[in-house]
Amino acid sequence: MTHQKKIRFYIMLFFIFTIINGVISYFVYYKESVEYMSKELSLLSHRYNIVSNELKKRSDIYFDEVVNREDILQKLRNIEAVENREEIRKELVKNFSPIYQRMRAKNVRQFHFHTKDNFSFLRVHSSDYYDDNLEDIRYSVVATNKLIKSHHGFEEGRVYNGFRNVYPLVYRGEHYGSVEISFSFKEVSETLKSIFQDEYTFIIRKDLVDEKSYMPTKNYKVSSLNSNFYVEKSYINSRILENREFYNISEKINREIKESIVTELESMKSFSVTTSYDDIDYLLLFLPIKNIEGNQVGYIVSYSQDKYLSSEFNKFVAYTIIGTAIIFLLIYAVIIHVRKEELKFINKILDNQNSLIMVKDDKQVIKVNQRLLEFFGYVSFQELLESDDCICDFFIQEEGYIFKNFKDNNHIIKYILANPDVNHRVKIVENSTKIVRVFSINVAYLDEQNLYLLILSDITSNELEKRAIEDKANRDKLTNQYNKHKFETDIKEYVFKNKIFSLILIDIDNFKDINDVNGHLAGDKILIEFGEVIDNKVRRSDFVYRWGGEEFVVLVEDRMIGATKLAEKLRFIVESHRFFKDIHVTASFGITEYRKFESVDEIVGRVDKALYTAKLSGRNCVITC
Ligand code: GH3
Ligand code: MG
Ligand code: MG
Repeated sequence: MTHQKKIRFYIMLFFIFTIINGVISYFVYYKESVEYMSKELSLLSHRYNIVSNELKKRSDIYFDEVVNREDILQKLRNIEAVENREEIRKELVKNFSPIYQRMRAKNVRQFHFHTKDNFSFLRVHSSDYYDDNLEDIRYSVVATNKLIKSHHGFEEGRVYNGFRNVYPLVYRGEHYGSVEISFSFKEVSETLKSIFQDEYTFIIRKDLVDEKSYMPTKNYKVSSLNSNFYVEKSYINSRILENREFYNISEKINREIKESIVTELESMKSFSVTTSYDDIDYLLLFLPIKNIEGNQVGYIVSYSQDKYLSSEFNKFVAYTIIGTAIIFLLIYAVIIHVRKEELKFINKILDNQNSLIMVKDDKQVIKVNQRLLEFFGYVSFQELLESDDCICDFFIQEEGYIFKNFKDNNHIIKYILANPDVNHRVKIVENSTKIVRVFSINVAYLDEQNLYLLILSDITSNELEKRAIEDKANRDKLTNQYNKHKFETDIKEYVFKNKIFSLILIDIDNFKDINDVNGHLAGDKILIEFGEVIDNKVRRSDFVYRWGGEEFVVLVEDRMIGATKLAEKLRFIVESHRFFKDIHVTASFGITEYRKFESVDEIVGRVDKALYTAKLSGRNCVITC
């Protein structure tokens, strides 16, 4: 995998895990919230049931204490009789007025007597209005009279709605009507608040109210939550009186969430909404309310400040952030580990190489292999870094090998990359053995990592072999001195370079006789010895060649005078040397100096002539030409 692919892989891994972490955290948060909200909704439902029960009990007490009494029931038994009705009504109004005032203070809204055929007999709360047929609008009354059994629950009405309690009026086993003691939502809300805090409102389906009520807009106002629902004006007023500030907040909240709850609200099922206003989180619970007939007619809406859900949300955010950080750290640790393992592997490979290898970026040395440290004599990589050496400091200056004044290792790299077709060879002394070794130096650029590999491959043995083969080709088989072929190559170079040099051509005197007297093998030995004697005496810069047969030539990097002196010395040494089997050998020497711009043939011809003259002059002498 390339470096970029790896990075892409790790980034992808990071995102996948982060998304998984986010999704799981969100799922946990979502599950918690849903559970919490459904728990809160069921709590509200329980509270409503408790309050309904409580109101029923209170109503039962009113019924038992105020209505279900011998004196009252006796009066009421004749409500059907036409002649007594007005009188009974007046009497009852008088009788109930004081108690009704007290009941009103406890939010009893309707105190209403009905005949057994479902006509209104007396509204204590509105005594001027009676005798109307309730059959179509008051299921609770009809059912109570029909079944002679009390009915309790919410019910809309012609003027108001109410949490109603309708009791049959039975005296001495005879049923003659019913009575209703109903509470407004204000009482439900106040009782809820007194026990469970929070704020409440009640919204009722507009279509139902519009259907039953004479003048719906007199007592109702369209809800700010949804235009298909009403709220009671009187309840709004009491809320404003009680806590105007929160009423205003709740109205603002209503307007804000209005659009988002349309479908849920119209489904008439319980639901909850969270929202925030002025940096405070609110939880709104919508509990659908059934009327006495079992139809969904409205909602109790509770507003509470929410700390739990916001803390759960904060937890979700925290888990997501912590999770992301952990994922990041884990992936980072994996990257580091993988990189370490890779490096270990690379180091192992590098350390097993016989080449000297240096890994570098633009600025510094990143790594060198063990062989390099040992070769240059560094104890540790640290020591190499601290030394700030350039490997060029160790290059031996010699022709055929690179030795440039490099500034630093970067400079070498640039030079090698700029000259890719050349075989760059360097000579360096190995620190431990002091042996000169030859290296071929190459640079590899790893563009993925932006690293350079400076590789010095040890080619010493190749070089030696090559030299040995070359040398063998240049040597004479018998004497091991350079051969004529080598002489021709060298002299051509000298002439080409127009160098100053002289030639000494040497011919052993009467060698035929030596052969004849001592045999050819002895002659060979003398030739070998002769070559050595001459070679031992010339300077390092002079070269001895076997010209052919018993003739040798010396290429002297000197003028004629120097060459003559040398020739004289050689002549004397030969003459005085004790050769194989004590054979006495002399030689004749012809000398000439190279004249600028002349050809090889010209100088060779001249030296040959000088030698010829020496032979003519009686041998064992030096003649210049
Ligand atoms: P001069 O003094 O005039 O040079 O007399 P010379 O006898 O040395 O000259 P010549 O040219 O007459 O003879 C050279 C001899 O060298 C002849 C040949 O047998 C001998 N010779 C040439 N090459 C070899 C060799 O490789 N081994 C031996 N043993 N003898 C050789
Ligand atoms: Mg000869
Ligand atoms: Mg000879």
